[in-house]
Amino acid sequence: MIPYGHQDINRADIEAVVRVLQSDWLTQGPDIENFEKAVADYCGAKYAVAVNSATSALHIACMAAGLTKGRMLWTTPNTFVASSNCGLYCGADVSFVDINPKTYNLDADELKKKIEQQDQQKPDVIIPVHFSGQACDMKAIAALAKEHHVTVIEDASHAIGGEYDGKKIGCCEYSDMTVFSFHPVKIITTGEGGMVLTNRTDLYNKLLLARSHGITRDKALMLEPDEGPWYYEQVDLGYNYRMTDLQAALGESQLKRIDEFVAKRRALAARYDRLLAKLPVVRPYQAKDGASAWHLYVIQLDTDKTHIARREAFEQLREKGIGVNVHYIPVHLQPYYRQLGFKEGAYPVAEQYYSRAITLPLYAAMSEAQQDAVVAALREVLQQ
Ligand SMILES: *Cc1c(COP(=O)(O)O)cnc(C)c1O
Repeated sequence: MIPYGHQDINRADIEAVVRVLQSDWLTQGPDIENFEKAVADYCGAKYAVAVNSATSALHIACMAAGLTKGRMLWTTPNTFVASSNCGLYCGADVSFVDINPKTYNLDADELKKKIEQQDQQKPDVIIPVHFSGQACDMKAIAALAKEHHVTVIEDASHAIGGEYDGKKIGCCEYSDMTVFSFHPVKIITTGEGGMVLTNRTDLYNKLLLARSHGITRDKALMLEPDEGPWYYEQVDLGYNYRMTDLQAALGESQLKRIDEFVAKRRALAARYDRLLAKLPVVRPYQAKDGASAWHLYVIQLDTDKTHIARREAFEQLREKGIGVNVHYIPVHLQPYYRQLGFKEGAYPVAEQYYSRAITLPLYAAMSEAQQDAVVAALREVLQQ
C-alpha cells in the first residue's frame, strides 16, 4: 500500500534521539527550549511553547485566549475535530463558518456575513485552519477580528514551512497565536507533538502555566512571598501537556530538513497537477497570496465528467494498493456534534466538497514511480 502520508527519518534524527537517551534529561531539559527557539526563529515569531500534541496546543491556546463557559469559538467545518473540540474543553460554545469553494478554507466573506448578523452570538475566538497547507485569507480575517475584538488562533497543523504574504506561517503577523502539529503524517514530526507560537508576552506566560499544572517558579508571576529556593506556586489550573526532550531532539533534527521536505512536496504537487490535467477531477486551486506547505493533495471528482461514485472510486483505489484518504468529514456532521444540535445542510459548501473529495498520497519521501502508480490507478478507476 502506498500510504497517504509518511514520516522521513534519517540517521541524524535517530542519533539526536539516542543522544538524549544517554543524557541526564529525558524531559524538562535543554532540548525543549532549543527546539522552541529553533521553530520560533524559523517562523519569525517571538515565543514558542512545545507540547505533547496539537490538540493540547489548541486547548492551551484557547485557555490563554480566555475562552470559558458562555463564550464562543468559531472555526471551519472542514477540519479535524480537534480544531473545535478545544472550545468544548473550555466549556465554551462552538459554531462554524462555511468554506470557500475554491480553497476549501474558512471563507472570509461568510465570516463577515455571520459576524455582522444581529441575532448571532459573536465569537470570542476564531480558529482559521490552513487546510492542506494553504493559508486562509488572513488579512480579511484579521481585519474582521480586530473590528469585533476577537482572538485569532491559526490552526497551522498542515502548514509549517508554508508562506503567506511573503512571510512564514507561524510569524503571527495576522493572528494572536499559531498552532503546529508534529504528528508523523504532518510536515515534520516528533512522534506526537505540537507547538503554540505567539508574539505576545501575556499569552506566552499563560501558555507556560497551562502546559504544566498552572505552576510557576517565576517570582514575577507569584501571588505570595517566596518561601525559599524550593518554592513554587500553582496560580492557575493547568495540565501536564509537556513534550519530552526525546521528541524535541527529533523535532530539532527534522527542522533542519524542513525546506527540503516542503520543496519535495511542492515538486510532487506540481507533478500531480500535470499528470492529472486530463482526468475528470478538480485539482487543488492555489491562491496567489501564499505558498502552500502541501500537507495534502486533495482532488474532487468532477461529477459533470464522470459518473463513478466517490465511495466506489475510493474502494477501487484502496484495492489497487493506493492509500487514499478523505479530509474531512465535516465536523458538524459527527454524531457528537449532531447531538449538540448541528444539522445536515447547515454548511452546504463543506458538505458538497466532502461528498466528492479524495486525498491522494503525498509525502516528502514519495518517489516519482510511486506517484506514477497512483496516477495510473486513478486513470483506470476513472476509465480514462
Ligand atoms: C493533525 C491535526 C490536528 C491535531 O494534531 P495532533 O498533533 O494529532 O493533536 C489538529 N488540527 C488539524 C487541522 C490537524 O490536521
